Amino acid sequence: MPPPNRELMTELQSFGLRLADAQTAATGVASRRGGAGPSDHKAVTVDGHVIMVPVHTGSAFASPYVAQTPDAFGRSTVMKGSIPIAQIEFPRSPRFYKMQTLEGVPYSHIATLHGADVLATTVLQTCIRYESRRKACKFCAIGQSLAAGRTIAHKTPEQLAEVARAAVLLDGVKHMVMTTGTPPGSDRGAQVLAESAFAIKAAVDIPIQGQCEPPDDDRWFERMQASGVDTLGMHLEVVTPELREQIMPGKAMVPVARYLSAFEAAVKVFGRGQVSTYILAGLGDTREAILSICESLLAIGVYPFVVPFVPISGTPLEDHAAPSPEFMKALLEPLGAMVGAAGLRSADIKAGCGKCGACSSLAVYET
Ligand code: SF4
Repeated sequence: MPPPNRELMTELQSFGLRLADAQTAATGVASRRGGAGPSDHKAVTVDGHVIMVPVHTGSAFASPYVAQTPDAFGRSTVMKGSIPIAQIEFPRSPRFYKMQTLEGVPYSHIATLHGADVLATTVLQTCIRYESRRKACKFCAIGQSLAAGRTIAHKTPEQLAEVARAAVLLDGVKHMVMTTGTPPGSDRGAQVLAESAFAIKAAVDIPIQGQCEPPDDDRWFERMQASGVDTLGMHLEVVTPELREQIMPGKAMVPVARYLSAFEAAVKVFGRGQVSTYILAGLGDTREAILSICESLLAIGVYPFVVPFVPISGTPLEDHAAPSPEFMKALLEPLGAMVGAAGLRSADIKAGCGKCGACSSLAVYET
């Protein structure tokens, strides 16, 4: 396989991709709109790597890159003006999307395919932070897909187990990501993740990443692991304290220092490289601030998954610019070397966003 064109991947994730027509939009896995975490994007394969590329954002509509109408196999040419730049593919829609539970809930409302082979779900589609505009994270769209009827508020352990089993058997899904809105209570979602993992592992053998805020009591890490959670994500998102207060006023009540102590405790349970965090580049943190915290995280054994911010339609930050490709390259090049030097690589993660790597081209910068 030729070396991946990481410049193109970085540019596509920063600028987004215009889709030539409705047929292009309908090809492959349905694009994701709203929901927790990055959204408004579509999976495309570039040089054998599946990446998530913004297609519904304001910047994507103005992107210099246009995907032409695909052929019957989902292959499309990306044009920049009149110049063909690359061949891409839209991965096909998974078989489990056609199924539903006995009560009539479509499997795709319970979990979705991310990247190439990841089953992803938001166990609780509600969040104490999201209930008031004053406290909500300004980049988040967790309530949008619920309001639009594309998902359900609480996925039960039984529903998750049923869908995970089907996704593994029918579509060869390799790992699972379970995130959650933060519920009231000091466990911050750890309990619902543990209950869900337990039921899934009883139904099918699949590595699982749990994602939640740091719980108040570090003993939750052992409980989650004993229940079947293999890797843990606790997402800083923004790293500069003043910016955290501005962009995520509710979540900023859990200070960075608590994240760092929770990371140390979690690495003791899950192991080096099996705990990760998500950092959204482009929201105002400087390159130096991001690289500096990544250095501390790597020293603890935490994989810092730095992802370009995607301005999601309908959120307070929908008009905030996505980071430039130059900014992302200036971050990911040194970060890729730091990650390699620390011996923590995407490929060694058992499950989760860092392993999937579709929301950032970091893995192709790792040395
Ligand atoms: S990196 Fe995480 S959020 Fe992004 S597509 Fe992969 S599993 Fe989903």
